[in-house]
Amino acid sequence: MEANLIKNILYAGIVGDALGVPVEFKKRDTYYLDSMISGGTWEQEAGSWSDDTSFTLPLVESLTEKSDYEALMQKFENYMFHNEYTPKGVAFGIGATCAKAVRNWSINHYPALECGDPSEYANGNGALMRLAPLAIYLQKESSLEKRLELTKNYTSLTHRHPRAIMGSYIYLEILHGLLNDKALSEVLSELPKQLEHALQNKPGEWSEFIYYKDIFTPGFKNVSRDNIKSTGYDVDTLLACVWSVLNSNSIDEAILLAVNLGEDTDTVASITGTLSSCVYQKQQVDPKWVAQLQNKELIDSIIDPFVKKNSDRKF
Ligand SMILES: [Mg+2]
Repeated sequence: MEANLIKNILYAGIVGDALGVPVEFKKRDTYYLDSMISGGTWEQEAGSWSDDTSFTLPLVESLTEKSDYEALMQKFENYMFHNEYTPKGVAFGIGATCAKAVRNWSINHYPALECGDPSEYANGNGALMRLAPLAIYLQKESSLEKRLELTKNYTSLTHRHPRAIMGSYIYLEILHGLLNDKALSEVLSELPKQLEHALQNKPGEWSEFIYYKDIFTPGFKNVSRDNIKSTGYDVDTLLACVWSVLNSNSIDEAILLAVNLGEDTDTVASITGTLSSCVYQKQQVDPKWVAQLQNKELIDSIIDPFVKKNSDRKF
């Protein structure tokens, strides 16, 4: 993969997060957003990014270092309790399931892979939102079994219910197909059979596929906006993101479509940014938005070594 492409994928996710922060929790069509603004529930300055990015950056760092799951949980703790990986030295907006997982690790001393909540009520998008770097890391991994195993493990750090794990499988496998030069339509038509086959001995996981099946239905693009939910529920989020990409012709357009759906705007726009930047690999997310990101020095200091390690370009 080209260095520029990797960097653009990560930036697009962060830009989506930052665009969404000032309108997070707002009801659909009570606002229209097409630029970086300040304010919102968290009273942030324009360009401020949230937990989505603050959980993604430790994963970027961990994959660069090839450190283990325990070391990654330590980085999550450093974010949540010590405000590292933040735009202005203050952690904000951490979801309940992620917070519980970090507490399980730092206070209750659970093993990393058992920190995630396994209950059905813990199927928020908190794992999905941070996994883009894993797709980049696994771009050349040809074993589907191996990819699914790592996806499950990295999800389980915070989310252990099979529905959240299935959501991560679908998201990461869509990214994997796109990063290996398949068209989105091709990936969507092939993936259900591939997953069904790969999970034939894991019926508990495969049975969750049905919650996401609309993504793979021909005509999903034409589902009306009124029937697309954009809540923090893993299923709603992934459907909203794929729908936003299917109904756009550029990265920027997809992100704006997503951020204007309301509710969990930062995460939906962030994942849409990632997905669309993998679909439109020749495009760049608006450089004006990238330049407006807060604490870009920190972002680059973490992203650049990862880009260097994972790109084809020799430095
Ligand atoms: Mg957030």
